[in-house]
Amino acid sequence: MDKKEILSKFSADPERYYKVKLFDNEGFERKSCATCKRFYWTIDENRVNCPDHSDDTYSFIGNPPTAKRFDYTQAWKEVESFFVKNGHTSVNRYPVVCRWRDDLYFTIASIVDFQRVMGSKVVFEFPANPLVVPQTCLRFKDLENVGLTGRHFSSFCMIGQHSIPNSQGYWKDECIDLDYRLVTEQFGVDKKEVIFVEDVWEGGGSFGSSLEFFVKGLELGNAVFTEFQGDLSNYKTLDQQIIDMGAGLERFAWLTMGTPTAYDCCFGPITNNLLQQVGIDANDELLVTYFTEIAKHLERFSDLSEVRKNAIKTSGLSDEQINKIITPLEGIYLIVDHIRTLIFAISDGALPSNVGGGYNLRMMLRRIISTMDRLSLKFDMNEIVDTQINYLKNMYPELEKTREDIKTIIGIESGRYENSKLRMEKIVSKLNQKPTVDDLIRLYESDGVTPDYLKEMKVISDIPSTFYSKLSQLHQSKKQKEQDQVSLEKLPDTELLYYGDDPKEFDAKVLKSFDKYVVLDKTSFYARGGGQEPDHGTIEKFEVVDVVKHGNVVVHELKNGIPKEGSTVSCVIDSKRRDGITKNHTSTHILNSSTRSVLGSWVWQHSAFKEEDHARLDITHHSALTDDETAKIEKLANSIVEKNMSVTIESFDRGTAEQKYGFKIYQGGIVPVKSVRIVSIEDFDVEACGGTHVKKTGEIELIKITRTKRIQDGVVRIEFVSGPTALDYTKQHDASIIKKSAELKEKMEMKEKRREKKQELRERFPILVDSIIQSKIGTNIVDEIIVDMTESGKPNFCSTISDQYDELFHTSLGQKIIEKDPWMVYCGVFEDGDKIRTIIYSGEQAAKYKKAVDIAKLVSEMLGGAGGGNQRFAQGGGKEKFKKNDAIEKAKAMVLEV
Ligand SMILES: [Zn+2]
Ligand SMILES: [Zn+2]
Repeated sequence: MDKKEILSKFSADPERYYKVKLFDNEGFERKSCATCKRFYWTIDENRVNCPDHSDDTYSFIGNPPTAKRFDYTQAWKEVESFFVKNGHTSVNRYPVVCRWRDDLYFTIASIVDFQRVMGSKVVFEFPANPLVVPQTCLRFKDLENVGLTGRHFSSFCMIGQHSIPNSQGYWKDECIDLDYRLVTEQFGVDKKEVIFVEDVWEGGGSFGSSLEFFVKGLELGNAVFTEFQGDLSNYKTLDQQIIDMGAGLERFAWLTMGTPTAYDCCFGPITNNLLQQVGIDANDELLVTYFTEIAKHLERFSDLSEVRKNAIKTSGLSDEQINKIITPLEGIYLIVDHIRTLIFAISDGALPSNVGGGYNLRMMLRRIISTMDRLSLKFDMNEIVDTQINYLKNMYPELEKTREDIKTIIGIESGRYENSKLRMEKIVSKLNQKPTVDDLIRLYESDGVTPDYLKEMKVISDIPSTFYSKLSQLHQSKKQKEQDQVSLEKLPDTELLYYGDDPKEFDAKVLKSFDKYVVLDKTSFYARGGGQEPDHGTIEKFEVVDVVKHGNVVVHELKNGIPKEGSTVSCVIDSKRRDGITKNHTSTHILNSSTRSVLGSWVWQHSAFKEEDHARLDITHHSALTDDETAKIEKLANSIVEKNMSVTIESFDRGTAEQKYGFKIYQGGIVPVKSVRIVSIEDFDVEACGGTHVKKTGEIELIKITRTKRIQDGVVRIEFVSGPTALDYTKQHDASIIKKSAELKEKMEMKEKRREKKQELRERFPILVDSIIQSKIGTNIVDEIIVDMTESGKPNFCSTISDQYDELFHTSLGQKIIEKDPWMVYCGVFEDGDKIRTIIYSGEQAAKYKKAVDIAKLVSEMLGGAGGGNQRFAQGGGKEKFKKNDAIEKAKAMVLEV
């Protein structure tokens, strides 16, 4: 459906779709904009244009239309007290990491807080009605505007005013009346300044009218009435109508302060502090002029660099003023904005990485660093984090708990970026033309080179306006769910016995059997789910090899046949297997909380797998685990086992569970049912989980981590065993340690023996040399050294392949022998690690016939390697140890043939 079509249809009947009681009571008049023809409602009879086309656009800058001034957190207190006074419940913000929705990484609007997906349908669950919530929202598609326009943020507070029209809630009349009174009574804006513009909203198969409200050209909020479903030719009223009024808190604060930009009043004392550090006067008249021009030009040009260029021209700024004031100011705004977003995201458990939602966070941190480098700003990021939290905690006290964790993560991630700079420099130096938007995306995705880095390196002067929107499109929605379709229509939900008495033997009726599958009316076989592997066992004489849930119907896969439909079958579950799996499952919960308390608040379960004799838990963490960390985690986990804590299981309404325990319960992912099963290990761990668990942690006996590994950026795998498997593992592990240490001891003893033998030989060295020289004609053996003495005037040959001699021995002996007998050739072959080496000496006379280098070459070649040297001394070797004897024989023949 086209929004324009809906708008023209609704605007054709304003009485029905737009006119609220307030308009009659206050004498609002409906007008059409002289410029763009859009319809709006006002009490100002002289007004001819809509807020976008009025002359007074952004005239609140430097001249706020309210009597009182409220900064960011004060503005919230005003809004909150107004709505609470008028019967609303004030609800705490929900996490910015959207754990309860499968299709979003981050919370992008306040209404998302209350949306739960069930099947293909979105349902609304309100913890109170009506309510108001200060929801921090993250949006990355306008990232290039942040800092430059004075009003774009990467995260902002959406004031969510939500109501379901029933006995507690209200509909259009009261909503618009409240919003009008909020602006005029609570904030003191002149009634004449408030303008309502007609608009429509459409999405997810439903649609409705909406009224945007403006003051001085600034859109403060938009009241959306989700009312219909169907298409324009045929639509009906929804069963569940919803008011979704979203207003920007940043804008309320800005309107009352009238500062040059929204940043000046929303980041608390931090911007002023940084401006002072670089010597910019925040009260400079020039800033008011410049940012008012920016605001005007934003409506006229879609390209940001055009906006900037024209604003510079019309406000008459010099190059020096641009370089000394505007450019550093834009940088500071960007840095403060991005750090604020990182504070919320990391605090709620997101980590910068190269996957999923982590992408945008890494991008932002790199932008901060690049911007500081480009502008030579030397700010301390920890200090900025501290100042921001000190300010924000008035409104969001929970940030205090993760203050140090945020600094840790930012520190680690900054270090990584610094380390990758050398590589990025190389990549950038190879670019030979100006990169396109697609090049920029590729450069970031595959090499981590951000456009801000390219700007810093002066490769590009501006970031193309489509870059961030394209990138965020690529990384916004995640996880396409596949559901294999087995036709099980008309079958009733299977009764799940494992959530009741959990019998290990039971009888059941076969409702359907086909191929190798069986559906029963009830079952105690646990179906694969939440990382827990299915039960095995038997149905009649058939082996159960797999159990899967399709919707609410459990399907058993059998081996070697299936029972008849309609028959009653006796079923037996393999309890030993179930027992192992159950212990591993409770152990997963224990380890999950243990890792978080040892490592930091950013740790979440990424995924898990529980089999009978092994299990694994993947957690979100920035680095590989050290041995020390692993030991600490294991120790803490086993202390929970030793304490024999009770494991309790209770069911709650989903909204109640979320309010009571927070979103940490969704460690295993979202729960697509209205009633959630909460598994608590006393106050140590609370999770929403559909798995099987022990009753007391003591039953687990022991948890043993067998291996840890960093499996992807930001995810660490912990493999472990528990129960009897862990005890066995420890026993085997101990046994293998004993065996290994015995082997080691033996090796050491052998080494020592050899060393002693060598020492002994060295002492006998002079005697050895003498006995070799004195050998008579023929073959003699002296201490494993073979001496072949020939008649005088011919070369003699002396060799050994014994392992008891080392390099030092061979070189000393060879040298000594040829000194004493110039006719002698000495050839030593010995093993050295995985190589075999040879050392050759040829006496003064012998060398005339046989050069050492020739013998070395021949021997080495036979050993599969190469040799070299001169006529008196040479060496070489190879790898073929088994050719030792052949090589010596060849050398001997070569020498003695003369
Ligand atoms: Zn207009
Ligand atoms: Zn679980």
